[in-house]
Amino acid sequence: MHSFDVIVIGAGAAGLFCAGIAGQSGLRVLVIDHADKVAEKIRISGGGRCNFTNRDAGPANFLSENPHFCRSALARYTPQDFIALVQRHRIAWHEKHKGQLFCDESSEDIIGLLLRECDAGGVTRWQPCRVAEVRHGAAGFECDTDRGTARSARLVVATGGLSIPKIGATDFGYRLARQFGHRIVETRPALVPLTFDGAVWAPFAALAGVALPVRIATGPGKAQGRFDEDLLFTHRGLSGPAVLQISSYWRPGEPLTIDLHPHGDLATSLRQAKAGSRRQLGTVLAEHLPQRLADAWLQGVGQDGHRPLAETRDRDLQTLAQRLHAWELRPSGTEGYRKAEVTAGGVDTRELSSQSLESQRLPGLHFIGEVVDVTGWLGGYNFQWAWASAAACARAMSAS
Ligand code: FAD
Repeated sequence: MHSFDVIVIGAGAAGLFCAGIAGQSGLRVLVIDHADKVAEKIRISGGGRCNFTNRDAGPANFLSENPHFCRSALARYTPQDFIALVQRHRIAWHEKHKGQLFCDESSEDIIGLLLRECDAGGVTRWQPCRVAEVRHGAAGFECDTDRGTARSARLVVATGGLSIPKIGATDFGYRLARQFGHRIVETRPALVPLTFDGAVWAPFAALAGVALPVRIATGPGKAQGRFDEDLLFTHRGLSGPAVLQISSYWRPGEPLTIDLHPHGDLATSLRQAKAGSRRQLGTVLAEHLPQRLADAWLQGVGQDGHRPLAETRDRDLQTLAQRLHAWELRPSGTEGYRKAEVTAGGVDTRELSSQSLESQRLPGLHFIGEVVDVTGWLGGYNFQWAWASAAACARAMSAS
């Protein structure tokens, strides 16, 4: 029997970060992961440069059935704290846009940082190593693994979400939570491209590759998501930052509303262009939209793009503008966990302490990172949640 103070299951962002802090506070920590390679999701994140935090991350950038839960951890471990750590490790970084911070070189730099922090804390790592069973009894937690049974007073579940199964994502954390009586908020793919029925999409499929800035919205009242970002047409539907963001708010059967020209009043622009103009409707519209989209749109609504603008009725221009400012369409689904960056839903936070991420059902059991029902926007927020929830958990364990 191998004995530790803490066993962490999952050597991803949250698990490694938690292990390093706990180890450096003097706790004997074991990290177990079944994957061949450590922290694969960090490796592929941010296009290989890891968008490791967002300078402006705050509770408003996260979805959860219990929206205030993330406040405490986010307030006690801030983006500035992680930036300071990145600088201590002499990792070069830069800001892209909207507060998104990336490594200059490679995501490997962040993995290196986490492994050095674990080494500094004397953390033991078993990887690849499968966990067959977890039990809890008078002596604490016991994990039966490929390398024998390990025992500890505390167990931290950091097994992440369901997205990208081919690099090691599993439902292990949810199963373990259920085993110990926890409720799971229904999981769904998030930050994911949206798809449409073939017939609905047929007129737009040829636009694959077209990108443009839009305003996109879905959902009722307070639960509404609304973003100003870039949209990308694909063969099967829509993607790009605007759609990835809104996908986390979208519910099956609900429509999306897209303003394809969010930074101007198209009706006024078209009417003004009409005065004394000999130009064609399609040419003028393409001054405000990508040409391919303008052509496909006019064809779709039965307008002749070659018609001189001067001969187009004001009423028709008004209708055209209204539709382009409020394109309503109903996705049929998402590209699923295969393409999703994260999993929304997860371990219900109403049964966890927001201070320590500890179970209120079984003391000593903690859930951190993406396995918990806290889902960040696109742009470095999910890693910030991984760091913040891990730090809250590690500090609480060290103090106890
Ligand atoms: P993970 O990092 O997923 O780690 C979970 C670990 O648990 C894995 O190592 C896994 O092998 C292990 N595990 C799973 N099941 C078991 C089991 N049964 N036994 C043992 N071990 C197990 N977020 C950002 O903020 N910025 C980005 O730039 C960004 N880019 C992304 C790009 C892609 C393509 C994807 C898929 C995600 C991206 N994310 C990004 C999201 C981010 O990667 C996750 O939110 C974050 O990694 C979650 O951290 P975690 O530690 O909770 O889970």
